Amino acid sequence: MKLAQMGSGELSALYEELKQAYAQYQERSLKLNMSRGKPGADQLALAMPMLEPLGDYRAEDGTDTLNYGLLEGIPEARRLFGEIMEMPPAQVIIGGNSSLSLMYDAISRMFCFGFGGHAPWGRLDKVKFLCPAPGYDRHFTICEVFGIEMIPIDMLAGGPDMDKIEQLAASDASIKGIWCVPKYSNPDGITYSGETVRRLGALKTAAADFRIFWDNAYTVHHLDMSDIDELENIYTACENAGNEDKVYMFSSFSKISFPHGAISALAASPANIAHTKKYLNAQTISYDKINQLRHARFFKDKAGVLAHMAKHAQILAPKFSMVLDTLEKELTPLGIGQWTRPKGGYFVSVFLPSGCAKRTVELCKEAGVELTGAGAPYPYGKDPQDSNIRIAPSFPPVAELQQAMEIFCLAAKMAAIEAK
Ligand code: PLP
Repeated sequence: MKLAQMGSGELSALYEELKQAYAQYQERSLKLNMSRGKPGADQLALAMPMLEPLGDYRAEDGTDTLNYGLLEGIPEARRLFGEIMEMPPAQVIIGGNSSLSLMYDAISRMFCFGFGGHAPWGRLDKVKFLCPAPGYDRHFTICEVFGIEMIPIDMLAGGPDMDKIEQLAASDASIKGIWCVPKYSNPDGITYSGETVRRLGALKTAAADFRIFWDNAYTVHHLDMSDIDELENIYTACENAGNEDKVYMFSSFSKISFPHGAISALAASPANIAHTKKYLNAQTISYDKINQLRHARFFKDKAGVLAHMAKHAQILAPKFSMVLDTLEKELTPLGIGQWTRPKGGYFVSVFLPSGCAKRTVELCKEAGVELTGAGAPYPYGKDPQDSNIRIAPSFPPVAELQQAMEIFCLAAKMAAIEAK
């Protein structure tokens, strides 16, 4: 029977039953973690051969990767990222171990130096960003440290609410950017539709120096290689509308090889690449080219990356299925909540009845299950409905995940009854 149809007697009987099961878990002093989207140890092991000595450390153009030089990265790494990001290698700069750092630096350059003669953002009274939510909490943290006002934008089935984005971007010159995780989004697992990509590419903005931060962190992170989402190329969409300077594209190998032991990339228009290189040249002589060479030799090309990601999918798919099956079995009969069924990425996004997310996270914590803080996927940590919880199934082994999910469902049911 659905929770909504239960009378008060039935509800209290069920609550008592749940409380007893919950108390039994509490006694076990468990320590389970479904909080951050980290690969499991078995996924990391797949890339260990990459750490074998390379013998010859010269890049294909003869550059000695053991030494200084080549600010924009070695040619084979630029070609590899170019293929993955569908961009000409000449428009790709290889970064260090973190694409998040590249995003931070891109914003920092706009704040300090500006672009194309426009005032640096740091000199303006107000800078605002459009923030599709739920979204990636660390994007929002970047906004907070730069004092960027965040405007939440609802996520719809095909990506963020484009009507709202078009209306706001066209009418307010202090809106300087938008965060996008366009494929298997964090946390909803949504891939932007072709229409969304084309409308973003053609976006009319009151700010001439508006930027789309296209964080394609999960571009090859499918859960089933025979059933994948396709994403249209944002750069082509921008170019077609004469907006090629409006987008910075980012990607990284963090969840392909080793998180923050990998390489990252920025791809953009020739003008944006020149602007980036001008200031990067003052910041560093070159990023870690040895790691670039390791990645290029190990993966070779996009086909090599996809073959590797098929092995990741074999490990991850059963974990996602288990999470979804447990939600289905435990919550659906009671009519509590909705959740996404992503085809890739790292998360399942659960929407509980309003007012239940914080309490569920709290109950989980008291029973030894760590979840991402309720509200974290929203600007300023404020989920207006207190409803969304991001589940990250990748890190715990399956047996631990099963226990953690059972506790999660118990907690969600208790929170839903308490909220009635
Ligand atoms: N972007 C998104 C959407 C992410 O989910 C993550 C990590 O979880 C990152 C970026 C971090 O990227 P990197 O490891 O390249 O810094």
